[in-house]
Amino acid sequence: MGKYVLRCLECGRRIKDEFTNRCPHHDSLLVSEYETKKFCVKNLPGMWKFIDWLPAENPIDIDTAPITYKSEGFGKELGLPELYISFSGYWPEREARIRTCSFKELEAAATFPRLTERSKKIPVIPSAGNTGRAFAHISYLTGSPVVVLVPKQYVFRMWSVVEPTPTCLLISVEGDYTDTIKLGERIASLEGMVFEGGVRNVARRDGMGTLLLDSILTIGRLPDHYFQAVGSGVGAIAVFEASKRVLNDGRFGKKLPRLHLSQNIPFAPMFRAWRAGRKEIVPDVDLPNAGDAIENMYASVLSNRNPPYSLRGGVYDVLHETGGEMYGITNEEAVNAEKLFEGVEGIDLDPAASVCVASLLQAVEMGKVGKDEKVLLNISGGGYDRVKEDLAIIEIEPDLRMRWDTPIEEIESSLREWWRDVRRE
Ligand SMILES: *Cc1c(COP(=O)(O)O)cnc(C)c1O
Ligand SMILES: [Zn+2]
Repeated sequence: MGKYVLRCLECGRRIKDEFTNRCPHHDSLLVSEYETKKFCVKNLPGMWKFIDWLPAENPIDIDTAPITYKSEGFGKELGLPELYISFSGYWPEREARIRTCSFKELEAAATFPRLTERSKKIPVIPSAGNTGRAFAHISYLTGSPVVVLVPKQYVFRMWSVVEPTPTCLLISVEGDYTDTIKLGERIASLEGMVFEGGVRNVARRDGMGTLLLDSILTIGRLPDHYFQAVGSGVGAIAVFEASKRVLNDGRFGKKLPRLHLSQNIPFAPMFRAWRAGRKEIVPDVDLPNAGDAIENMYASVLSNRNPPYSLRGGVYDVLHETGGEMYGITNEEAVNAEKLFEGVEGIDLDPAASVCVASLLQAVEMGKVGKDEKVLLNISGGGYDRVKEDLAIIEIEPDLRMRWDTPIEEIESSLREWWRDVRRE
């Protein structure tokens, strides 16, 4: 059977992984069920030290890894002696070497081996930018092909610190993120291509879950509280699933961490639905004037109109099961929190991480975390300024420009031409 199988959360059916992202009968998430039940650290580079709980047989030669440290400055500021920081970004002074500067690289690094071991197809990834940058980076380093789509206004997020190669095809999309996803689905339906899967891709979730596993090595047990900014909530679901595996081991704590998730007002559909006590997002109520609202966000990577909130195993369920909480953070609150954090900790933040820091300030103010409790703060991106001090930044030029309704013949011939180039290299 191999080291893991997939299990449908709805019917419990066990499914052999052939890069399978759905139960044939249900819309709920599939989770990976590993043979090894004990938390175990292997002598392998980067995140691969957690290979027992990653859906790949063989690690790839990439040292992407999360780091965790105990905060002194910010913890003191907040009166939290047990504040731990998970940092996914570039900060070599802390041994943090994610050069694409966000935790999306944990998802990308875990996805490539799952793909090559389980499927011969080329993944198609629509992205608001941070995910695309991470997948491009791993593609350049490994030579594995990938098609990345990014809305035109977010192409500025596509840069690299390694020499770009033709293996990553970058398509700039005229339109918003939703149009980008539509085009991505059309491309993925072509022969030889596969939709990468987003939240349904277990490699993405288990890759992200390594940040929780890494925190256990520093904290010694499961944290009492976990803080993260969410757009889709993949990271939060991932941390929940990884926490469950650690809990089942029995040696590292007796309860799951409470999830404290934050969104950036004006665009905060999950925050609104959760606060209203609803398991459904109602577009007219929870995301009115979505277009304008997204334009005005400080942390626009958190703009997802269709987050996996209601489906079984999704954000609502993980909040419910952990007694979790959602926070709505204004742009001003995010900016103020960012200044405070950068001042005491000494590293620059992704705006999404600033939203998360602000949510911790709110939680402390509202008395939601106790003085002696262990708190894990996910700084999901940062070190953008720091990386520029050490490395040259190369802007990635789009290879193609398309609209969501670009004719399929035109798409097919462009892809064929690209594939010929890739194979010639
Ligand atoms: C994508 C992203 C998030 C949100 O992550 P999800 O769990 O997928 O919602 C937070 N911070 C940064 C830096 C991101 O790139
Ligand atoms: Zn099922």
